[in-house]
Amino acid sequence: MTGKPGDGAWVFPPPPRVAIPIDGQTARFPVHRIYCIGQNYREHAREMGQSGREPPFFFAKPADAVCTEPVVPYPPMTGELHHEVELVVALGSGGRALTPADALSCVFGYAVGVDLTRRDLQAVAKQSGRPWTVSKGFDCSAPVSPIHAVERCGHPAAAEISLDVNGERRQAGSTAAMTWPVPELIAELSRYFELQAGDLIFTGTPPGVGPLRRGDRVACRVEGVASLEFEIA
Ligand code: MN
Repeated sequence: MTGKPGDGAWVFPPPPRVAIPIDGQTARFPVHRIYCIGQNYREHAREMGQSGREPPFFFAKPADAVCTEPVVPYPPMTGELHHEVELVVALGSGGRALTPADALSCVFGYAVGVDLTRRDLQAVAKQSGRPWTVSKGFDCSAPVSPIHAVERCGHPAAAEISLDVNGERRQAGSTAAMTWPVPELIAELSRYFELQAGDLIFTGTPPGVGPLRRGDRVACRVEGVASLEFEIA
């Protein structure tokens, strides 16, 4: 927002147009909402102190938390920024109370993203029963690769997912290890929200989450789908 009271009229910027490149197309994917699922890989649930058998749960990030730039700023108010590499689902249509079969037909494509987390603030929120907004929904907390249409990459039900920091492997797993596979995850989410074209769903992270520091180079990929590289400024 620009403009000041007393200056005459308020001057607002044009409506935000958060959009992600689509591989091989000139069109861009307009982001509607960002939904995230917690603890969808049992081994990650265990490293977060759970048994791994608790049902996954949902949270959200603002649409403009998406970052497609090669440099991601280290956020203020944390000393413990963590990476969580995730398969990202991009919806081309939506609906309510979808069946898993219907849910899969809503998928436009896939990307790889990182659910950046202020782990120290998340720990405080967990202890005190407070919301995760400041630990999960901060500016540039959702770096994401270009989106690859299903026609080009298929549905990655058993794809390797990995994240390297400065050339060293930190996270590795297979999307086959999800507690809630993509069709079931979308169907469950659609019981709570009317899903729409433009929605992104971060599908959870495999084990190996850890800290990022300024200057770190992050490289992540979902085999056969997408890759993403960025530097922490
Ligand atoms: Mn996550």
